[in-house]
Amino acid sequence: MMTDEQWQAIVNNDPAHDGRWFYAVKTTRIFCRPSCKSRPPLRINAVCFAAADEAIAAGFRPCKRCKPTGERLPDEEWIALVADYINRHFASELSLHHLAEACHGTPFHLHRTFKKVRGITPATYIQQTRIAEAQVLLSSTELSVAEIGARVGLANPSHFVALFKKIYGTTPNRFRAQNT
Ligand SMILES: [Zn+2]
Repeated sequence: MMTDEQWQAIVNNDPAHDGRWFYAVKTTRIFCRPSCKSRPPLRINAVCFAAADEAIAAGFRPCKRCKPTGERLPDEEWIALVADYINRHFASELSLHHLAEACHGTPFHLHRTFKKVRGITPATYIQQTRIAEAQVLLSSTELSVAEIGARVGLANPSHFVALFKKIYGTTPNRFRAQNT
């Protein structure tokens, strides 16, 4: 049986669930990690297992893409999962520690690998993602600057304004005046 939470994890490719359970697809006879980027199956065709061994015993083959039997993901794929996680959670508090926990790595390894693959640190990527979203909200909504900061995970208005200025060289108000 599958819970609604599990189904949401499959649909959202949520890496926070990886390693805790697996899902198999009756039509393809393949099983995957929750974060697998393959197209989600119809819910009616999906079945969950607590362990990879159980899925294999039930006659399912491991997915070549997400390698649910434990072969380590290449760095690029792992960092793609991390970036994806950031893209979906930038509005909440995202410490390196939290990120590492959610993506099944250590903070040190995550920081180093992210920088190697993307050329910037996870913290910088989070900041850029937040400010990019703030730009969208500034030019497309009437929300106050403070409200927009809060919506992109920067609840402290002066911190938000300072960071915006650091990245774009202009204040949120000036950016809005020029882009609406
Ligand atoms: Zn897969």
